[in-house]
Amino acid sequence: MPRSPRDSYAHRQGTERRTPGRPVPKVVRIPPPQLFRCPRCSAVSFQVLFHERDVAGFCAECNLRLRTDKTTGRGTPEYYAEFTRQVEASCPDRIQRIFLKTNSVSEAKRVYPVVRRLGYRTKQSSPMLHARLVMVETTRDQAVALIEKLREQGMQVALQDDLHSPPP
Ligand SMILES: [Zn+2]
Repeated sequence: MPRSPRDSYAHRQGTERRTPGRPVPKVVRIPPPQLFRCPRCSAVSFQVLFHERDVAGFCAECNLRLRTDKTTGRGTPEYYAEFTRQVEASCPDRIQRIFLKTNSVSEAKRVYPVVRRLGYRTKQSSPMLHARLVMVETTRDQAVALIEKLREQGMQVALQDDLHSPPP
């Protein structure tokens, strides 16, 4: 007489219970690696990898490799910020995609034409607007100058990666 599926399930369970000490195979879910915008080539393929003694930054797109010492209490975002600083310190005049965060979507819409009028390279897109971001292709120093000019015109923007810094 064929066993019903329920019987065979119960049987399997019983078998496992009869063999104590043998580890039950577990499905280990490996989360996909968290990808960041590469501080050198701007591709979203930069990973922060934790090793025993240090932490490495690696971009699969441009092959950028960085490392830093492990510090207790620091998480992935802090290391990403650290790697970004390393790259910026090595080439401060590099033109990069800089993201300015505004307080609202309508504010972001207002900022784009001003940025263009000031002679900066920028590209507007819906996802960027919805994230309240203004993308500017410029150097870090020029971006800081741009933020000042925008503030003079009554527009409050901040560098996106400075958002986690404590307010002054
Ligand atoms: Zn890269």
